[in-house]
Amino acid sequence: MSTQNTLFDPTTTDYLAGVHADATAKSLFINGRWEAAANGETRTIICPADGSTVGVVSEASDEDTIRAIKVARETFDAGEWTATPAMERGKILLRVATFIRDNKELFAAAESADTGKRYEESEADMDDIANAFDYFGTLASHQAGRVVDPGDPNLRSRIDAEPVGVCGLITPWNYPLLQVSWKVAPAIAAGNTFVLKQAELTPHTAMLLMHALKESGLPDGVGNLITGAGANCGNPLSQHPAVDMVSFTGGLVTGKLIAKNAAETVKRTALELGGKNPNVIFADADFDVAVDNALNGAFFHSGQVCSAGSRIIVEESLHDKFIDAMVKRTNNIKIGGPTDEKAETGPLISVQHRDKVAAYVDKAREQGAKILTGGRAATSEDTNGQHGTGTTDLGAGVYYLPTIIDGATKDMDCVHDEAFGPVVTVETFTTEAEAIATANDTEYGLAGAVWTSDAGKAERVARALRHGTIWINDFHPYLPQAEWGGYKQSGNGRELGPTGLAEYQEHKHVYQNLSPASWDQFGLS
Ligand code: NAD
Repeated sequence: MSTQNTLFDPTTTDYLAGVHADATAKSLFINGRWEAAANGETRTIICPADGSTVGVVSEASDEDTIRAIKVARETFDAGEWTATPAMERGKILLRVATFIRDNKELFAAAESADTGKRYEESEADMDDIANAFDYFGTLASHQAGRVVDPGDPNLRSRIDAEPVGVCGLITPWNYPLLQVSWKVAPAIAAGNTFVLKQAELTPHTAMLLMHALKESGLPDGVGNLITGAGANCGNPLSQHPAVDMVSFTGGLVTGKLIAKNAAETVKRTALELGGKNPNVIFADADFDVAVDNALNGAFFHSGQVCSAGSRIIVEESLHDKFIDAMVKRTNNIKIGGPTDEKAETGPLISVQHRDKVAAYVDKAREQGAKILTGGRAATSEDTNGQHGTGTTDLGAGVYYLPTIIDGATKDMDCVHDEAFGPVVTVETFTTEAEAIATANDTEYGLAGAVWTSDAGKAERVARALRHGTIWINDFHPYLPQAEWGGYKQSGNGRELGPTGLAEYQEHKHVYQNLSPASWDQFGLS
């Protein structure tokens, strides 16, 4: 029998008292109240770091989602929320930021329990999340629309920013609350109502956020949460006519399905999908820093990062030295649970996901690539081995060894498919043009990096790369003020930055004639 997770127990958290008030799990937050799934279904959340039980939550069905959509629709149409001054909406977001900072330990514990990620990383995520709420809280009060000059003193022309309406927000499990914050904060700032569907494996921080929103003054019915698998309760968010917009972050296959569904009622769609992100390293780069960042790009959060630097594209002359250094350091990477102080990275989210990563590596092997290190799941026997810390039982959780695949060529699936695990492929180039062509040779276009000490070359390559974020001599940083999103099949639309707010707004042109006159054109004779 599974034991209770030691980091986070939702039944002892006052903030979720309504969820566990009786024997039924009530994790659906609809119209300001905690509710159970109509069919009484539940799901047990398991921590992938050690197999412990985190909590039992409701497993919603389409019926529950439609109930939440109707509440969001009625609340929007009632007009009271949309009439709330933007500055007041912004103040709610600023209070949420403070709430998260004040309760950072609780939020971080819940995030680590659900995902298995290192507690330290979850704490850093909470700082970023609070910053996102701060950013959109501040931006909200600066939304005054725009005045256009029609070129005539008798005419007035202005652009009003209005909310889109009811938003369906769908998020993944890898950065659970961070991805939620990038949608919920701008949706509220713009005056929308929403139904959030958090990934079924990681519901607890979204549940805590619902409490934080209510405490911070968000009126009932504006923000609603459903928990459950996409196949069970997700479809109405892209299909129901009462939803005006669907914003989705997740995999390419699901994203295409959502886009197809949404087309039926011409909903606005924002899609943040996968990535196969090139990390281009020229021979004149600062060697040690480039190696260090290549490891960080590939193995941070065990590669379960949409912008992971999963494709190393290194100049041929540097290849052997670079790969030797990478393998040496990779062999020392320690893996373990959230509070294991020696752990440098953690588990994968589920056994099912680890199976996918393993199948990806097996296929690379079959297609002739060389596995230089890793290439298998960790077992209890690894606990005291080179990747173990001696503290975390690597057989009790869902761990996979950091893996480097050399000799990858563009005819191999490993170069094109997203592994979303601790796996990096290595390709080579000899000219700048070849580096650019190789880095752009992917159906994705989320992020990429270039490493060189030649500023001109860095600028040329950065401009030529068809990816939504380019790092020059760095990897991974992002800012709430700067747009985030993908080219090509990494999605459409942008999160964060002013564009991240505009995604949730309609822009209405109001044209006023101060001196109306007849046209004297029709039917005068
Ligand atoms: P996923 O597509 O399996 O699931 C994402 C969400 O969609 C989950 O909440 C899931 O329940 C829901 N869903 C599934 N089917 C649905 C349906 N029919 N209708 C509505 N919702 C449905 O993705 P995942 O495995 O949770 O996340 C990993 C993927 O997310 C990776 O591809 C990663 O690159 C991507 N990702 C992208 C970004 C970005 O910013 N571009 C950020 C994080 C993750």
